[in-house]
Amino acid sequence: MDICYYNGMEICTYDLKDESGIYYQDTVMEWKRRAAERKLICVDCGSPVYLAAGLIKEPYFAHYDIVSCTYGKRMESQELMRGKRLLYHMLKRSFPTKEIHIRHRLPNGLYATCYVKNEEGYDLALDYRLQTLPIKELDLRVQYYDEQGIIPVFLLGIRQDKQEGQLSWYQTYIQNLSGSCAFLDSEEEKLIMKHHITYLESGKRKSKVYQKSYNIHNLSLSEDGRFLCDFYGDCERIKEELEEKEEREQKRLKEIREKERRYHVEQMRQDSFLAAEQERKEQRYNLKLQEYLEWCKQESLLKIDFHTITLPEGIRRDVLLNCIEMIKNGQEEMISKRYLDYIYKLIKE
Ligand SMILES: [Zn+2]
Repeated sequence: MDICYYNGMEICTYDLKDESGIYYQDTVMEWKRRAAERKLICVDCGSPVYLAAGLIKEPYFAHYDIVSCTYGKRMESQELMRGKRLLYHMLKRSFPTKEIHIRHRLPNGLYATCYVKNEEGYDLALDYRLQTLPIKELDLRVQYYDEQGIIPVFLLGIRQDKQEGQLSWYQTYIQNLSGSCAFLDSEEEKLIMKHHITYLESGKRKSKVYQKSYNIHNLSLSEDGRFLCDFYGDCERIKEELEEKEEREQKRLKEIREKERRYHVEQMRQDSFLAAEQERKEQRYNLKLQEYLEWCKQESLLKIDFHTITLPEGIRRDVLLNCIEMIKNGQEEMISKRYLDYIYKLIKE
């Protein structure tokens, strides 16, 4: 047990040590005397309690007798007690004028690890635990804080930091609430803050965890439940940088696609130009070929003397000479088939 009543006032074992964990032995002796007078009383059952304040373990209050008190039966690990002491001192440092409670019982029966009463603003409820809560209980808590206008600050034990490339659902829940997930290393007296960032890289979804570790003695909490440090700014900057990088990459890809498109258009233009050029070449070649064939035909005709050649039956010399003139003038289509066949037969011979 870390709290008890003395003269109706709540006292807490974390006040027995300074920030460095060194005992205020005068206070220890005074509280031990008060306990001997049976003036230290359990906050839950009202039985007298004593103070154990050794050098190895964290100090605690305990019942004299084995009792049915639930608070008295609860055993807390050294890690948890040491962590609570560090957090308590951080709160005292952050809010020197405000009322700070340990194991604060909320009107709905839930307990907060530490509680800061803030008359000028919102109260703060610190929730430090070494085990994760079931989601139903977590939802209930968060919903209650929300309704009551209380700012929750969730902290986890260092063993819950699995050092993976992403956060668990519980840690992500906390990150969504407070902008980061914080792990308290009570042995090293450090607070490790983590933020899981998902982003796009070349259109693909990627993720990374940004983390930074702070000496708990150099940290304080602000009234809005955030730690006064550069962590949140770092996260914003990293996110912006990743977004800008992706924007640049998308722009680069777009430029490449545009270049490719222009290249294809140019290619197609050249191809059609070449095809047209080829067609013109073929046309010219065909024309030349035709001219050549025509010339060959004329040459063959010149070699034949139509005036003296022996004519077969049905071919008249005057008509034939007339036909030859027509061929020379390129009027073949006007010649009858019989004469034309006869003339071509002569040319081929
Ligand atoms: Zn008790």
